Amino acid sequence: MDLLHTIETKALVELQRMDIALDALKARAAAVPVKIAALADAFEAKKNSMSAAREALLALQGKKKNIELEIAEAEEDIRKHQRDLNAVKENNAFKALLSEIETCKNKKDELETQVLTVLEEIDRAAAEDAKLKAEVKQIESVKDSEVAALEAEKKEVEAASAAAAAQRAAAAAAITPELVEKYEGLRSKRAGLAVVLAHEDAHNGKFSCGGCHMGLTPQKMLDLKKHDTFAVCPDCRRWLYLERTVFG
Ligand SMILES: [Zn+2]
Repeated sequence: MDLLHTIETKALVELQRMDIALDALKARAAAVPVKIAALADAFEAKKNSMSAAREALLALQGKKKNIELEIAEAEEDIRKHQRDLNAVKENNAFKALLSEIETCKNKKDELETQVLTVLEEIDRAAAEDAKLKAEVKQIESVKDSEVAALEAEKKEVEAASAAAAAQRAAAAAAITPELVEKYEGLRSKRAGLAVVLAHEDAHNGKFSCGGCHMGLTPQKMLDLKKHDTFAVCPDCRRWLYLERTVFG
């Protein structure tokens, strides 16, 4: 089929325009859940890092408590040994107790140093925890308002899509059924584009297919200028037209 004669070129061009608009609306509606899922994922990831920071802080606080318990034990030991000192008569036992007390005091000093280090770590962990908590709150409010906007957009797009689909169905019903069938078959094989505008090169006046960009022969160029006619692209078989021929 080198060309397609039909008095319905204008109706088919308009049907194709409606289908392009309808496809775009459908794609927009389909993109909404994907965007919402991406927002939810980003939020979830942030929340997980917040939980990890919180756990690190709690672990450090537990560590501090344990060291403090050990300090209390060392203090208790020191008090006990000091009480024992009063009861001891023998010199060697007295020296042994003094040495024991010294060991306990050293241990206590060491534990107190550890507490200071842990306190610094707790300060840093608490700052990180507070920072992430604020970030999560911020991301959540941004996410919530974006999701609300997306859901509103989806509703609008779906309403527009339903109206466009009804308009498109009415337009298709007014065209010869066999022609609509051919058009739809071609459209499904050619990424939604069956009827395309031929591209005219402003410099050399040559034409090419607006769908696959294949250059057109002089015969095709003549076909394009005939009324009630689509030139058929030799490569992709799409129906080609010129604005001025169809609407001029
Ligand atoms: Zn083509």
